[in-house]
Formats: sequence, structure tokens, C-alpha cells
Amino acid sequence: MHIGFIGLGHMGGPMAANLLKAGHQLSVFDLSAAAVEALVGAGATACDSVAALATARPELVISMLPAAPHVKSLYLGDAGLLSLLQQPTHLLDCSTIDPHSAREVSAAARQAGHYMLDAPVSGGTAGATAGTLTFMVGGSAEEFEFARPVLAAMGKNIVHCGDSGNGQVAKVANNMLLGISMIGVAEAMALGTSLGIDAKVLAGIINTSSGRCWSSEVNNPYPDVLENVPASRGYTGGFGTDLMLKDLGLATEAARLAKQPVILGAAAQQLYQAFSLQGHGQLDFSAIIKLYTKQE
Ligand code: NAD
Repeated sequence: MHIGFIGLGHMGGPMAANLLKAGHQLSVFDLSAAAVEALVGAGATACDSVAALATARPELVISMLPAAPHVKSLYLGDAGLLSLLQQPTHLLDCSTIDPHSAREVSAAARQAGHYMLDAPVSGGTAGATAGTLTFMVGGSAEEFEFARPVLAAMGKNIVHCGDSGNGQVAKVANNMLLGISMIGVAEAMALGTSLGIDAKVLAGIINTSSGRCWSSEVNNPYPDVLENVPASRGYTGGFGTDLMLKDLGLATEAARLAKQPVILGAAAQQLYQAFSLQGHGQLDFSAIIKLYTKQE
């Protein structure tokens, strides 16, 4: 299929490379010339603007941009992609944005005669490179079936979550729970060790008991409880605190608009905000345990 790909960053770059490997024809655009060059080296055709990409008449356009303002400015307005595309086109936004913005852009796409899905991902840069991402997809069942083979070239777990925006709903709800659960595990590990129990013994009990979760079992925040996790290498790599903060901001904003209380989600957002302000925004989010432990 001829696919247009816009946003070739940490996630979009390897996702686009996997589409090329699967045999698709790619026209690519990014504000960064270096990001475009890297994909051209892998076989893609460079476009020097969104308008040039639209003129190339791709059957499907995928976007992978930082946040909602970037997505809205790409698609909407007189110079937006929805107006530039001269024929009905399939559109797939994989950026993580709030559900309200996703629904606004999808409605505008529909009105302009296009077909749109929201399809945020989990799995990080490692999953993007390996082609093992999870896609949470919102939009019509028919459009989901159209996009599924393309998504399968970039991911392993592809889930239709319902109508437009529901992919983003699934993503913000899951990541809010993840942010909260990490703080819970950090608090329990810090309490237990301060009262004298060995960290590995405590983690072992939690992981065979009812407190068990991904944050305790797969990405335990206490140093040296697990090998090959950020906590055992100075909290480098992994999922940055500022990225978690972004997702918790989306959850609390979506909750505000829905008039839905997210009491623990809001508290978690504030804790990561304070932690980021202390200069830790680039550390893996499990470093939040530093709020609870003595720092040398
Ligand atoms: P990134 O900043 O590395 O890449 C974004 C790219 O978009 C950059 O190359 C930038 O130049 C380009 N860009 C920005 N505005 C543009 C425009 N108007 N036109 C064309 N290109 C434009 O970000 P990323 O880490 O690849 O994340 C992308 C999205 O995926 C975000 O919404 C993020 O929340 C989500 N996400 C990231 C991860 C992760 O681990 N990095 C995991 C899951 C989801």
C-alpha cells in the first residue's frame, strides 16, 4: 500500500521502518530533515511539506506526533491535511492525545469525506523497533478491519476499543493506573525496608501475594530487586517521568471535561509534577521512590 507517514521521531521512525520492511511504499514528512533522511536511507520517498505529501496521493496517512496541539495543527484549518487531500483518504493518528481532541479531529475528518482512526500505542521505543507494539484503536469496525494488516506490520496486539476516541480512552485509563500503582509500590517498598525487611524478600512476598502488579513484578522501583530494570541502573532508560506526567495530565484533563473524579490520578499527577520540578523528568518514572527514601 502507498502510505504517507508524518512524525518520524523516537516512535514514528522505527514504526515507519517496519512498514518499509513489510513491503509498503512510504512517502514521509517530518519537521526534522535528519529524521526524514534516516527513512529515505531505508527506502522511503521524502516530502518537503505536508502539502507535498498530500499531492503524492497516499491511500493511508499515519501520524505520530508529540501532543494534541501538533495533531490539530496538522489536520485542521485551511492549510491542514484534511483540506489538502484531494480524494477520500484513510487516516490513522497514533499520537497519544486526549480523547476529546481525538474525537474533534475524527469528526472533522469524517465531515471532509475521509476515514479516521485513533490508534495510540504502548510498548515504548523497544516495541516500536521490534514491531511488537500494542495498538488501542478507536473508530468504525469497517475502518479497523481496513487498517488491521498495516498495524500488524508494526504491532502484535491490535485491539478495537470502540468508536472514535476510545483508543485514547483505553490508553489514558491504563497509564493513569500505571502511574498510581508505581507510587503505591514505591510507598510499600519504602515502608517495609525502613521497618527492617530486606527489599528482595518483601518484593518476593508482594509478587506472590495480593499486592502484586506490573510495577512490583516487572519494573520494581527499589534498586537491585530486579536485574535489567531502570531501578538497577540509576533509573536510566525505561519510561521517562515527563512522559508519565504527560499521560497523567491527559487523564486528569479528560476527567475534568467528563466531570469524573480521579482522586488518586490527580494526586499521582501532582507527585510526578513535583518530582519533575526537582530535575528528575528524564529518569524512569519508577524513580518516584526517591520521594520516599533517604538520598545520599
Ligand atoms: P518524538 O518527539 O521523538 O517525535 C515526534 C516527531 O514529530 C519529531 O520527529 C518531530 O520533529 C515531529 N513533528 C512534530 N511536529 C510536527 C509537524 N507539525 N509535522 C511533522 N512532524 C512533526 O516523540 P515520540 O517519542 O516519537 O512520541 C510520539 C507520540 O507517541 C507521543 O504522543 C507520545 O506520547 C507517544 N508515545 C511515546 C512513547 C515513547 O516511549 N516514546 C511510548 C508510547 C507512546
